Amino acid sequence: MDDFFRSVERFVNERIRPNINDWDEAGEFPRDLYREAGALGLLGLGYPEEYGGFECSLSDRLRLSNLICDAGSGGLLAGLFSHNIGLPPLINHGSDELVSMIAPAVLKGEAISALAITEPSGGSDVANLKTRASLVMVNGEPHYEITGDKVFITSGIRADWLTVAVRTGEAGAKGISVLMVPGTAQGLTRTPLKKTGWWMSDTAAIHFDRVQVPASHLVGQENKGFRIVMENFNTERLMLAGACVGFAKVCLRDALDWAQHRETFGKHLINHQVIAHKLTDMRMKVRATEAWFDETIARIDRGDIDQTLVADICLLKNQATQTLQHCANEAVQILGGMGFMRGCAIERIYREVKVMCIGGGAEEIMKELAIRQLGW
Ligand SMILES: Cc1cc2nc3c(=O)[nH]c(=O)nc-3n(C[C@H](O)[C@H](O)[C@H](O)COP(=O)(O)OP(=O)(O)OC[C@H]3O[C@@H](n4cnc5c(N)ncnc54)[C@H](O)[C@@H]3O)c2cc1C
Repeated sequence: MDDFFRSVERFVNERIRPNINDWDEAGEFPRDLYREAGALGLLGLGYPEEYGGFECSLSDRLRLSNLICDAGSGGLLAGLFSHNIGLPPLINHGSDELVSMIAPAVLKGEAISALAITEPSGGSDVANLKTRASLVMVNGEPHYEITGDKVFITSGIRADWLTVAVRTGEAGAKGISVLMVPGTAQGLTRTPLKKTGWWMSDTAAIHFDRVQVPASHLVGQENKGFRIVMENFNTERLMLAGACVGFAKVCLRDALDWAQHRETFGKHLINHQVIAHKLTDMRMKVRATEAWFDETIARIDRGDIDQTLVADICLLKNQATQTLQHCANEAVQILGGMGFMRGCAIERIYREVKVMCIGGGAEEIMKELAIRQLGW
């Protein structure tokens, strides 16, 4: 594992870090990067070997993703690893045939995977989603025909495979299914969206106009998709929490470095007590959040899983996003005008903070879910 960590570090330092500003300004990173990350083994982390992945503990997987955070771009993390939200429903619940058709190419970086849950009418209330899929016969074969809209979909423009939540049954959570839809499907229209941050990650609005996929593209059982979607959110929230810790550390590191070199009124910034206190507060929040994060991961790795775990993951996500909000805000303040300039990691992270508080379950929803899981 140590060798692997070193090779990922090299990949970050040589391939990612020097290009990160240009990719952000360009609004995309090269598609080849998926193949390079796939060849390195980064995309296959935590996935079954039979599909080209390699098993590793959750803690190693998240420590590795922390190395990518060190380059200071949530957009890269979201885009390059969108399969980490798109693929698990398929791997965990899809038929062998469907998984074998899709997963190996995604883990090699030859195909891009995205998850499409959110709709223009709302993302928090998943049980109320409206995109409809009905069974129809096409050339004597059963197909699902999908009509509706998805929005804010990460990697939605480039995705070769979309993992889509649709309504196949009654209103509410019991009428939802998950389907695998190829990006090339007829009737699919994808529109890029402009955003405050995560510039290099593509984000799409997707319209489905009677898009047909074979009935064999159903993941799990019909009308049992809500549980699959919810289960997937737990991992996404953990990954987001880990990323927040990673980016908060970048804020602390770069702000401390600046404070140790910048002089005002005849001394380094760090020697102004107000600034030193800001940095100690940042460290305090980072250390506390990281400790909680590590404890949660260790708990999962040893199989200590119950309802309080789901509640804690929700609250940990909020703790981590609040820590990042605090650290990014203070880091910009410590850098002064320079913290507001493009090309600086702290400026980019500051722009990216809000999406962490909204994506994968917004702060208010995390509290509601935690309350329900705790039985309060
Ligand atoms: C850059 C970006 C990338 C994204 N990538 C993806 C992706 O890849 N796939 C995907 O499916 N989705 C994606 N999303 C969507 C994201 O998951 C949703 O934005 C999020 O779930 C919130 O949904 P919403 O935006 O529709 O807000 P809404 O659900 O309309 O909520 C708006 C606000 O009201 C609050 N609120 C809602 N209900 C309640 C309540 N009962 N009590 C109190 N407060 C409430 C929410 O917390 C939120 O603050 C992405 C979003 C962004 C911005």
